[in-house]
Amino acid sequence: CGIIGVTGTGPVVPRLIDSLKRLEYRGYDSAGIAVQNGEGVQRRRAKGKIRELEAVLAADPVAGTVGIGHTRWATHGAPTTTNAHPHKAGRVCLVHNGIIENFAELKAEMEAEGRIFESQTDTEVVAHLLDHKLAAGMTPLDAFKATLDRLTGAYALAVLIEGDDELILGARRGSPLVVGWGEGEMYLGSDALAVGPFTQKISYLEEGDYVVLSRTGARMFDASGHPADRAVVQVSASS
Ligand code: GLU
Repeated sequence: CGIIGVTGTGPVVPRLIDSLKRLEYRGYDSAGIAVQNGEGVQRRRAKGKIRELEAVLAADPVAGTVGIGHTRWATHGAPTTTNAHPHKAGRVCLVHNGIIENFAELKAEMEAEGRIFESQTDTEVVAHLLDHKLAAGMTPLDAFKATLDRLTGAYALAVLIEGDDELILGARRGSPLVVGWGEGEMYLGSDALAVGPFTQKISYLEEGDYVVLSRTGARMFDASGHPADRAVVQVSASS
């Protein structure tokens, strides 16, 4: 439903929560965040409202400067904490809007590789596919592109890779995703509103685009893997 990603320099958790609260009006059934720090990627999730997630965080805090967050509107799998995003497989932790239509076939393929699934979502298979390719020695960018090429359906994705706190990967097809430009920080959001607390400088990704965010910029690619420069536009603070 809603996505936020921040490659930042200050504490990221309050910012993820701030953004998720702006997305509440769309409706959702659960929420979660993941942050990258010296101990790897850690996530916190909760069924219900953002304040339930805040309670989980108060009881069991996490800190970091790079992170992703999600509000879920369940399509596959009941609205439970286990099915809430982010989903994690090995080094990969990600959030997803949309529906992976061929997830059953891909899941069977990953299970045949001995991979164990913990949720009933269509989303989790994307994490396994990507982790499988990283484990085979591919670079994050190549592995991400190869994973996207296997997916049918609709997605906006924001991805953390454990041990690499310099980046967030993003991609869109059928669901919107924007890149937000900050000062020494970068953002990813399901719309301008998601990144609205941090910046009004936005690049709208186009159908099939994928992107690598660092703290200082974004490398964007089109669906065929060629570098793409999407215009930076100024949106109004109220949007
Ligand atoms: N299909 C995914 C799920 O059910 C994502 C739903 C959404 O867009 O929030 O978990």
